[in-house]
Amino acid sequence: MNDKRVEGKVQDSQIRVTNFLEVEEGYQEEEALTEASRCLQCVNPRCVKGCPVGIQIPHFIKAIKENRMQDAYDIILESSSLPAVCGRVCPQEKQCESFCVKGLKGDAIAIGALERYVADYALAHDFSSTNRKSPNGKKVAIVGSGPSGLTCAGELARSGYEVVIYEVLHKAGGVLTYGIPEFRLPKRIVQREVENLEKLGVVIQTDVLIGNTITLKELQDEYDAVYIGSGAGLPKFMGIEGEDANQVFSANEILTRINLMGAYMEEANTPIKKCKTAYVIGGGNVAMDAVRSLKRLGIDAHLMYRRSEEELPARKMEVMHAKEEGIVFDVLTNPVRILTDENNNVIGMEVVDMELGEEGEDGRRSVHEKENSLHPVPCEMIVMALGTSPNHQALKESDVQLTDRGLIVVDGTRTSSNHVYAGGDAVTGAATVILAMEAGKKAAKEIMEDLQ
Ligand SMILES: Cc1cc2nc3c(=O)[nH]c(=O)nc-3n(C[C@H](O)[C@H](O)[C@H](O)COP(=O)(O)OP(=O)(O)OC[C@H]3O[C@@H](n4cnc5c(N)ncnc54)[C@H](O)[C@@H]3O)c2cc1C
Repeated sequence: MNDKRVEGKVQDSQIRVTNFLEVEEGYQEEEALTEASRCLQCVNPRCVKGCPVGIQIPHFIKAIKENRMQDAYDIILESSSLPAVCGRVCPQEKQCESFCVKGLKGDAIAIGALERYVADYALAHDFSSTNRKSPNGKKVAIVGSGPSGLTCAGELARSGYEVVIYEVLHKAGGVLTYGIPEFRLPKRIVQREVENLEKLGVVIQTDVLIGNTITLKELQDEYDAVYIGSGAGLPKFMGIEGEDANQVFSANEILTRINLMGAYMEEANTPIKKCKTAYVIGGGNVAMDAVRSLKRLGIDAHLMYRRSEEELPARKMEVMHAKEEGIVFDVLTNPVRILTDENNNVIGMEVVDMELGEEGEDGRRSVHEKENSLHPVPCEMIVMALGTSPNHQALKESDVQLTDRGLIVVDGTRTSSNHVYAGGDAVTGAATVILAMEAGKKAAKEIMEDLQ
């Protein structure tokens, strides 16, 4: 029995830093069949327990092996409405694949790559299902078109509800569209998922800021229920001197400019001022996306992280890809001041070296500044990727309760306000696509229960 997984083709690192095309090219048919045939088809599949939405993984893999692709797709759709997205961006190594028995002695089955294969096959062969129950006369408004809002909309529309999604940006998809770069998640994939929803009758109204253009109260008056899936898009900053300088950005802003406004193209409305050296501060997936995007603009891109490489919270695969692409990792280093010229343009940072200490209660080692280690680092752009929190503009003047940390209080997905439901990052804080989708699905179920 082969213990090595089949690796799909990856774009050469020297070539891919010059373009925004997808890094991983996905399986060809023969590769998918070979990988599917490695699955042991466990009677008690541990992988399913590791999937937040409980996809019947061995069943869909068996269907691939037997070349029943429509069945494979249908099995995945029973639990996940965005398989082409999840197959690409879910942290499978921490979820389903980490439970795979094959992983005990060799490589776990490449569940994510197989899910992506099925989803891409389905998109190429137009498998999308537009089955929906006849209209039941009930109307639901959804705030935000990220994975949570899209999933909730799909579930409700299929069950005969009239659904309108309100999105403040000019394109639907939430972080899938404005955050995750094209080279990890092509926008045509997200667009296809959005179009499938529109075929189900879901109406998407872009450029509408709930809490401003329309209030939550007005939505409550007009609709039978409202789902808040407004995400966690408010960036955090360090609060250090010079952070208000020109050419200091949040990762969300830089990624939005690149992904949504096409800033990598000369003719873009919001071009990014090219510079020689840029530093992205942070160590998570968002930092990795920002630094790899800047590299593709021809910038000497560095990642600065205050802990060691071992503690980087980003996915191992992303770190590996970033290194192959020539990103410089400055670990155990922390900025304390941003240096500017007379026009308030960034010319560098003062940074300190850091040392790791004892392990804390959270299992992470503490980190503290090394004495007499202050030194300057020249650069012309700084991008802060330090996490985000929810922006509750939609809840302005509403009776929806928040926790001390500014997260929406829910019982299931029901908020403190009548017929207002919430889920995804707006409730959990910045998390993952699959958890946001799970919340959207749960909300749809609770809305249907309450409105019957
Ligand atoms: C750069 C980046 C990379 C990531 N990479 C991964 C990854 O690889 N894998 C993974 O699983 N997760 C990843 N995540 C996290 C994941 O994308 C989020 O957890 C997920 O998108 C949350 O979904 P959501 O629907 O709750 O919110 P969002 O995707 O944030 O969508 C919320 C939407 O609501 C809109 N909105 C907000 N307020 C209003 C309002 N008042 N009126 C109208 N519209 C409003 C926003 O414009 C947005 O479109 C990443 C996040 C970022 C930022």
